[in-house]
Amino acid sequence: MTERLYEKDAYCRSFDAEIVSCEQKDEFFLAVLDKTAFFPEGGGQAPDKGTINGTEVLDVQEKDGIVYHKTAKSFEKGEKVSCELDWELRFERMQSHSGEHIVSGVAHSLFGYDNVGFHMSEKTMTVDFSGPLTAEDIAKVELESNKAIYKNVPITASYPSKKELAETDYRSKIEPRDGIRLITIEGIDCCACCAPHPAFSGEIGIIKIIDFCPHKGGTRIEMVAGINAFLDYSALHTSVKTVMNLLSAKRESIAVSVEKLQETANNLKYENSKISKKLALASLNPITVNGCAYAINENMSYDDLRECANNLIDNGTRKCILLSETDTGSFIYVVSSAENDVRTIVAGLNSAFNGKGGGKDNYAQGKLTSDSRDALTDYINSIFA
Ligand SMILES: [Zn+2]
Repeated sequence: MTERLYEKDAYCRSFDAEIVSCEQKDEFFLAVLDKTAFFPEGGGQAPDKGTINGTEVLDVQEKDGIVYHKTAKSFEKGEKVSCELDWELRFERMQSHSGEHIVSGVAHSLFGYDNVGFHMSEKTMTVDFSGPLTAEDIAKVELESNKAIYKNVPITASYPSKKELAETDYRSKIEPRDGIRLITIEGIDCCACCAPHPAFSGEIGIIKIIDFCPHKGGTRIEMVAGINAFLDYSALHTSVKTVMNLLSAKRESIAVSVEKLQETANNLKYENSKISKKLALASLNPITVNGCAYAINENMSYDDLRECANNLIDNGTRKCILLSETDTGSFIYVVSSAENDVRTIVAGLNSAFNGKGGGKDNYAQGKLTSDSRDALTDYINSIFA
């Protein structure tokens, strides 16, 4: 069994140890030390990074109580080594992980929900709760979690016996047994956990829930804590400042400014579509065959084509096929008929020109491809003949 220094002292960032064994595995080596402060991957937390005698530790895994440090260099059995943790990264993870304990503890005491899933990625974490939470519920959890930070309560580890454990109220999915490690955040949470935590809740600094959604009958939240929450705030602030400058708006009126902008854009879109339809009607030059009409245009939208088709049918045209070339060889089309035979016409068009689209008996629209406008007009002439 490797002695785990981080279990007793989460702040141990450099230590001396002795190499117990070092086995080669593929092109790497797995070094076992008599004691280690490197946290092996577990409980949703990634393995620590750092160095052993200046050699980078690439991975840390635990198996049967032994901690294996993966390196690119081998070590001699009995060799004395000096080890250094990537402390910035480790402390960031301690802040995040403890933040997750607080949020889970608060959600449990406010709503009785269990944490049924936890994932820690590089900057953010997701936590799954066993029941539904509204935006107000989430805001409550977030506020109480931050108040727990301001209280600066002690975070302690303990190893109760199986009997003591049976009498303790703690969060966990683990079967009670001797040697289970409990992390207690005084007055907030108690949970079985193998990871290192800071000594006081105040060291977490800040907790922010950045998103939530329904998940498997419960709720998945995405959250940040500690320095990652501060960095998230900084990034958000920069982006809000940019938007404020673009809108020439004050912070509190950004939403109103965006709404106004949206309204203006929608009005312009509407006006533009009216003008576009008028232009389409004016520039359409349909060819009439037996009371039916067709035209091949450019730069017209479905709306433009539909407007023209409606106009033709309203003015006594029996049926019409209107196309507009969007890219070389590809066309959008609308088909309209006062005789309710559009489905038959569209099926024929699609099959002759590798098209897609459909609609109702009297109107349909779609896309097709053709290298030759002559082939298209020949085909349409044959339908209308
Ligand atoms: Zn934990």
